[in-house]
Amino acid sequence: MVLSNWSEIRAVLGRNLTTVQERIAQAARRVGRAPEEISIVCVTKYVVPDVARCLVELGYNVLGESRPQVLWRKAEACAGLPVRWHLVGPLQRNKAKKTVPLVELIHSVDSLALLETLNAIAAQRGQPVDVLLEVNISGEQAKHGFSPQEMPAVVAQLANYPHVKVQGLMGMAGLEGGLSAARQQFALLRRLRDELAPLCPAGNELRELSMGMSGDFEVAVEEGATVVRLGSILYEGLPSECFETGG
Ligand SMILES: *Cc1c(COP(=O)(O)O)cnc(C)c1O
Repeated sequence: MVLSNWSEIRAVLGRNLTTVQERIAQAARRVGRAPEEISIVCVTKYVVPDVARCLVELGYNVLGESRPQVLWRKAEACAGLPVRWHLVGPLQRNKAKKTVPLVELIHSVDSLALLETLNAIAAQRGQPVDVLLEVNISGEQAKHGFSPQEMPAVVAQLANYPHVKVQGLMGMAGLEGGLSAARQQFALLRRLRDELAPLCPAGNELRELSMGMSGDFEVAVEEGATVVRLGSILYEGLPSECFETGG
C-alpha cells in the first residue's frame, strides 16, 4: 500500500513528535532531570506499516507492537529498514521462538514460565535476550504482570535464567483514579526498582523504567520513567488511510 499524501503525513507526524518531545523535556526539567534520559518507543499498533516507515525517516526507529503476530507482520513489511522492534504486550510462550529474533527488547515478561522459555531460546541461539519485568502496579485483575509483593522472590530467581538479561521494570497505570492514581503507581514502580536493583544477580540490571503512555507520560517522566511508550498521541490529525482496520 502507498499512502496518497506522504508529505502531509510526514509533516503531521513530525509536528506531533516535536510537541511530544517538548512536553517530555518540560516534564523532565520540572523534576531536575535531563530530557536525554528519556527515550520514546513509538507504538505502531494503530497504524499501517507505511506510517512506521515514515517514523523511521523522521529519525524514530524504536517501534513497539503489543501483539506478537502483528509485530511479525509489520517487521516483514518494514524489512530493510533499521527498525529496533520492542514487544510491549503479552507474549504467549508458543510465540516466543518466532518473536525473539525480531526484537531488541521485550517489555512484558510476566511469569517465571516465560523467563524459562526465553532462557532456553536464548541458550539455543547463543545470544542473550533483553527483557523488562512487567509489574502489575495498578492491582487491576485484567492487567498483566508480577505483583509488587512477589518481585523480591522473582529477582532472587533471575540467576536461574542466565541467558535472559533483565534491564528494568515495566508498568501500566490502571484505568481508575486518573493522573493522581497513575502517579502513585509509577512511584511504586520506581521504588521497587530502587529497592530491588542492589539485589539483582550479576548479568541483570534494574535500570530502565518503562512507564507512561499517551494519557500519562508527563506524570511518568516526573516519577522517573526512562522509556515512555507512546501510540495515539503521535497519530493525532493523520488521515484515515493511515490507520489499520481491524487487528
Ligand atoms: C497501546 C499501548 C501503548 C500506547 O498506548 P497509547 O495510549 O496509545 O499511547 C503503550 N503500551 C502498551 C503496552 C500498549 O499496549
